[in-house]
Amino acid sequence: MDEHPLHKPANQHLEYSASAAQLKAGFAALRFEGPLEKDFREAYLQENLPRGRLSGMIALVLLLGVTCLSFLLGGDGDLAINRTRLGVLLPILLAALVVAYHPALQRFYITTATVAICVFGFVASYNGIQAALEGKSYLIAGLVLIVIYPCLFLGMLFDRAAALAVMLVAGFLGMGLFMGLDPNTLFYCAAILAAAATMGAHACYNLEHAHRLNFLETRMLNELAERDGLTGLYNRRIFDDYVQRLWRQASREEVAIAVIFVDIDFFKLYNDLYGHQAGDDCLKRVASCLLRMAKRPFDFCARYGGEEFVMVLYGPPRDYAESLPEKIRRDVAALEIAHSGSEVANNVTVSIGAATAPPGGGRSLAGAIQIADEALYEAKAKGRNRVVFRDAAQVDAQTGNFRIADRKRYG
Ligand code: GH3
Ligand code: MG
Ligand code: MG
Repeated sequence: MDEHPLHKPANQHLEYSASAAQLKAGFAALRFEGPLEKDFREAYLQENLPRGRLSGMIALVLLLGVTCLSFLLGGDGDLAINRTRLGVLLPILLAALVVAYHPALQRFYITTATVAICVFGFVASYNGIQAALEGKSYLIAGLVLIVIYPCLFLGMLFDRAAALAVMLVAGFLGMGLFMGLDPNTLFYCAAILAAAATMGAHACYNLEHAHRLNFLETRMLNELAERDGLTGLYNRRIFDDYVQRLWRQASREEVAIAVIFVDIDFFKLYNDLYGHQAGDDCLKRVASCLLRMAKRPFDFCARYGGEEFVMVLYGPPRDYAESLPEKIRRDVAALEIAHSGSEVANNVTVSIGAATAPPGGGRSLAGAIQIADEALYEAKAKGRNRVVFRDAAQVDAQTGNFRIADRKRYG
C-alpha cells in the first residue's frame, strides 16, 4: 500500500461525501472543490501518461520520417528546415519522452509537453511561412496536427490545451503578418487552423468531462462500499482492515491503542415500542454523536453490527482514553431520546466496554479486542448505562468468554 499506513478518508460521514456533493453541484467549468481537484489531476496524469508516451513516440517517428522524406525529395531550402528539425525539435522531443518515462521526472511532464508544443508550433509556423514565401504553402498543413495534438493526445486538461491551441493560431497569424505572407494565404490558413483548434478543444472538453464524471462516480462507489448504509459510519469490513493497520503502526511506533465498544441498552425493546423506523433514527443519532467524539486525526469509529459501535483511538494519552468512554455515555444520554421501556433510565442509554492495549505487552490485536468486548459484557451484567474500562496489560482475557459468541449470557 503506497498511502500512509493510517490513511483514512477525511470525512467519515456519507452526508459529507465530497464526491457526492460535487456530483450534485455539477462541474461544467471543469473544476472540483477543494482536495478533490488535486486528487483528480494526479489520477488524470497517471491515467494519461501512457497515452502521452505513445504520442511522443509517434511524434518521434513522424519527425524522423518527415525529415528523411524531405532529405530525399527536398531542395536546398529544406536543408535549413531539416537542421531545425534535428537540432531543435528532436532534442526537445527526446527530453519530453525522458520526462514522460522517468518516474522521478513525471511531475514535470505537463510543463515539458507544453514547452515542447510551443517550440514545435513556432518552429513549424516559421518553417511553413518561410516555405510558403518560397511557393511551397503545403508545408503549413502540418500545423493542423500540432494544433490538434495537445487537445487529444497528450492528456492535457482542457484549459491548458485550449490556451495552447489559441496561442499557436495567434502565433501563426502574428508571424505570418510579420514575415509578410500574402493576406489571402495567411487568413485562409489561419481560419483552417482556428477551425481545427475549435474542434480539438471541443473534443478535449468532452474527454475531460467524461473523465471527471468517471472519477467522481468511482470514488463514490468506493465510499459506499466502505460504509454502513444507515449511519454512514465505516462498516465492519473497513474496521477490521483499518484496525489491523493501526495495530501494526502502533507496534512499530510503540504507542498504545484503545478499543471502545458501545452498545445501546434495551434496543430491541425500543424497536418494539417505537417501531423500526424510530429505531433507525435512533441509531443514526447515536452514530453522529460518536462521530463527533472521534476528533483526533487517527481516531476511527465504525458500526460493528446491529446496535453496536466500535471506536479505536491511536496513541491516546491515558487520561483521555479513560475519560472519553464516560463522555460518550453522558453525551448519548444527553441526546434525550425517550425510551419508556428502558429499565435503567427514561432515555436511550449505552453500555461501554473499553480497553487500552500497549503494544509490546504481549497482547495480540484479537486479545485487546476481546478484553474490550469482555468489558462491555461486564458493563451489561452490572446493570447497563455504564462504562467498564480495562488496561489490557494487566488483564488476562477470558478466552471463550466472548460476549459476541454468546450475547444472551449477560443481564
Ligand atoms: P441489551 O441492553 O442487552 O444490549 O439489549 P438489546 O435489546 O439492545 O440487545 P439485543 O441484541 O437483544 O437486540 C438488539 C436489537 O437491535 C435487535 C434488532 O432488532 C435491533 N437492530 C439491529 N440492527 C438494527 C437496525 O439496523 N435498525 C433497527 N431499527 N434495529 C436494529
Ligand atoms: Mg443492545
Ligand atoms: Mg448488542
